[in-house]
This record gives sequence, structure tokens and C-alpha cells, in this order.
Amino acid sequence: MLAAGALFCLDPRYAPPMVESESISSARLIDGRALGKVVRTSIAERIASGNRPVRLDAILVGDDRSAELYAANQQKTCHAVGIDYRLHRIQAGAGYDEIAGRVLLLNTDEDVTAVMLHLPLPADVDTERIQSLIDPSKDVEGVNPANIGNVVYGRRSLVPCTALAAVEMIESTGVTLKGANCVVIGASNIVGKPVAVLLMRAQATVISTNKFTPKLAEFTRAADVVVTAAGVPGLVTSDMVKPGAVVIDVGINRILDSEGNARTVGDVSFDDVSSVAGWITPVPGGVGPMTVAMLLRNTTDAALG
Ligand code: NAD
Repeated sequence: MLAAGALFCLDPRYAPPMVESESISSARLIDGRALGKVVRTSIAERIASGNRPVRLDAILVGDDRSAELYAANQQKTCHAVGIDYRLHRIQAGAGYDEIAGRVLLLNTDEDVTAVMLHLPLPADVDTERIQSLIDPSKDVEGVNPANIGNVVYGRRSLVPCTALAAVEMIESTGVTLKGANCVVIGASNIVGKPVAVLLMRAQATVISTNKFTPKLAEFTRAADVVVTAAGVPGLVTSDMVKPGAVVIDVGINRILDSEGNARTVGDVSFDDVSSVAGWITPVPGGVGPMTVAMLLRNTTDAALG
């Protein structure tokens, strides 16, 4: 059995104060806001000294409120690091041809270095079919199957941002992934599967689990690293975690607390697991802000290499 934090030393890329260590029982906090800030600073420097403008073109179909909010935040975050953000609005009810046509136009425009699609698309439009049209070299959310394939083969590619964020956060602790036992809870195309593949690429021993996995706790209790992306509040409790393990909580769930107030929590029972884990990400303030930073990094990589 590992002592808390025994496997780990801090990755020099994220030397203090980039990862803030706080004493929450035994676990140290992996602070997504602080890590994200480090990434954004380095991106701003790269863009300022780069040999071409970095631009992100986003398509928003209709007037979904969450997508609107996300786009507005994205614009601010992009401008702060020097990325030229252009939002392409398409009216609600647009069909496949119109949306596909816009993607293809952006693919061929040499001034456009990155393309992303805000979801949801209209119900009768096949989202995956549209995503697979995005030029893989501009696909900064890593949603084109070509990019997922390249992740599997270990080739240079644009990796889905949340998966990248989860693995960067593990690495920020200094954990040696080679030979580590990792359990990934959740196996969606956009989070769970790419996380599992990235961990495999790092030569970890990886178990991918899903809602049909019996006796989940038997797997997690043996894991040096647990990444959870299930969307189930309170799923991971202290009795499921090996002392000293790294616990990365990707889940974002809205719940009502005992006083009837809405709040955001992850999949991990945070206070409880903090007493056992070596490192833990909070929600909010964990994987979320680091995901935003990874989108900016992918966008910069797409333009500057
Ligand atoms: P999804 O619904 O597509 O997939 C959920 C996965 O979890 C499935 O594979 C399912 O089988 C598995 N699962 C569900 N219940 C389980 C259980 N009890 N035990 C084991 N596995 C179980 O969801 P998604 O899009 O991958 O998102 C997962 C969570 O991550 C959601 O809460 C989502 O809001 C969040 N998310 C966060 C970010 C971020 O930036 N932090 C980004 C994307 C998604």
C-alpha cells in the first residue's frame, strides 16, 4: 500500500506556486485555475513571438443559452492570450448542407487556423457527421475521428481538450505513469476513451470502466490513479480509493444542497476522498479551467506547430 503522495514528486513544468498545495486532510489539491494560468501565460508568449496570427473560428447554430455563454467566455479568454476569435452564427433550424458548407469554407480559408463547433446542433443534423468534416489539422477540439485515430496510434494530433487536461493534471503531480495502475470511470468518445488511450500511451496499466462494470470499487481500490468522468455525483467515495492515489474528477453535476440551493459538484465525494487520496482535483476549479487552457493550447499548436 502506498503512503499518501509516496509515488510522486512535482513535475518541474508545474513547480510551485503553479500547483497550489493545500492541506485538506491528507490530499494535496491539484488546482486547475492555477495550472490553467501557467498554460495561458506560456501560450500568450508563444503567440506574441509567433510567425503568424493565431485564429479560432467557432460556429454557433441557433441561440442556445449555454452555448451563447460559452462562446462569450471563449471570446474573452482567446483575446486575453492574443487569439483572434471569430464567431460564425447560423440561424436556428439550419440544415446539414448549410452547416457543412460553413465548415468546408473555413477548412479552405488559409487565414483560419482553428475551427470548432458549438453544440447542440439542430436535432435533425448528424453532429458526428459534421464534426468529421472539420479539417483534422484545424480540429482543436479533437472531434474528427482522424484525430482520435492518431491519438490511438501515438502520432502527432489534436487531442480532445478534456482528456488532455485530465492527463496534464496527473502529470503535474510528478506521478510516474509508466507502470502505474490507472482506472478510468466512464468511456465516452470525448472523455473516457481518449483518457484511457493517453494513459496507455504513457505505458500505464489501464482499466476502462462503464455503468455496466460490476464491483467498480474492486478496481479503483487497486489504482494509483483514478480518473472519473461518469456524470454521477457522489460516485467515488473514500472506501473506493487507495491511500495516496491521484484522483481526477472530470464530472460536472448540478445538484440541490440540503437548503435547496443549486451547486456544482463532480463525481467524487470530495471531503471524504480527500482524507485518503494523495492528490485530488476540486469541482469547480479543477479539470474545467484546465480544459479551457488545453483548447487555447491546441489552437496555438494548430497555427504555430
Ligand atoms: P457520457 O454520458 O457521454 O458518458 C458517461 C460514461 O460514464 C459512460 O461511459 C457510462 O457508461 C459511464 N457511467 C455512468 N454511470 C456510471 C457508473 N455508475 N459507474 C461507472 N461508469 C458509469 O458523459 P461525458 O460526456 O463523458 O461526460 C462525463 C462527465 O464529465 C459529465 O459530468 C460531464 O458534464 C463532464 N464533463 C466535464 C468536462 C470538463 O471540462 N470538466 C468536459 C466534458 C464532460
